[in-house]
Amino acid sequence: MEKCQYHHVVGRFAPSPTGALHIGSLVAAVGSYLMAKQGGGRWLLRLDDLDAQRQVPGMADDIMRTLESFGLLWDGEVAFQSRHLEEYRRIFAVLQQMGAIYPCACSRREIARSASAPHLEDECMPYPGTCRGGMKANAAIRSWRVRVPEEEICFADMRKGRFCQTLPAVSGDFVLRRGDGEFAYQLAVVVDDHLAGVNQVVRGDDLLASTPRQIYLQRLLGFPQPDYCHLPLVAGPDGSKLSKRDHLVSHQLGNVAGRERALLLAVLRFLGQNPPPELARCSCSTILEWGIAHVNPRQLPAQGGVLVV
Ligand code: GLU
Repeated sequence: MEKCQYHHVVGRFAPSPTGALHIGSLVAAVGSYLMAKQGGGRWLLRLDDLDAQRQVPGMADDIMRTLESFGLLWDGEVAFQSRHLEEYRRIFAVLQQMGAIYPCACSRREIARSASAPHLEDECMPYPGTCRGGMKANAAIRSWRVRVPEEEICFADMRKGRFCQTLPAVSGDFVLRRGDGEFAYQLAVVVDDHLAGVNQVVRGDDLLASTPRQIYLQRLLGFPQPDYCHLPLVAGPDGSKLSKRDHLVSHQLGNVAGRERALLLAVLRFLGQNPPPELARCSCSTILEWGIAHVNPRQLPAQGGVLVV
């Protein structure tokens, strides 16, 4: 008898409400939306708002309104990481019982920023494991770290192909929680994606280096591994980082009516698609439908670059 299996895609977009939506995030939103919807799946929205100090009031709403203006409508309720502390506590306790984590007294920049996703420029030197064998007597706990093994962790990225990392050389034993109780992005993202049933993670290339850390946690916890696709990054005109101002979707939109459609088409082209010029007269939802029908991870460009509107 035929064995019929249907893999229902659950994708997600997980911006941090530390500012208004920027162009790189719009690319991640559109890419993850098209790929989830092409599989007939669901596309979830989660606000990664764990890092209390970097939150800007009103930005979660602002991001949601911007997504809606592009017809990027999420399925179900919006999730907020700040409301999931109970789940993080529970999983943290499981890891503790397994003996996978240890308290650490070292003070490093990585600890201060651990609640936020480490984008390229935020990555730190690997932690040398100073507290692995125990902390000095009476030292204060500044963080909790997970022990990482020497072995290589590999996965097949839908765009980049096979990607391998040996964690001791990249992050070392990484922070899961700060001494003040705040949970780290690396733990929160793994717990949230798992609990929401996410099986496809599409996001910017600047998080590629975090993926082996997340896969390692999934393996420790016995969680299934999602499929990953890391998208090319948007650069400024001279190939450099985009300036803060140029980076904002609102700045690109200006006050020009219908500019969303032009920007959406530019994002499709940036993602290696070739939308027909007539689409420029159509609504955002028609443009997205076209994108869903044509998206192909194999056609995603190998390099990022300028997004030309
Ligand atoms: N919230 C993270 C960010 O600011 C992204 C989370 C993820 O896609 O894993 O980029």
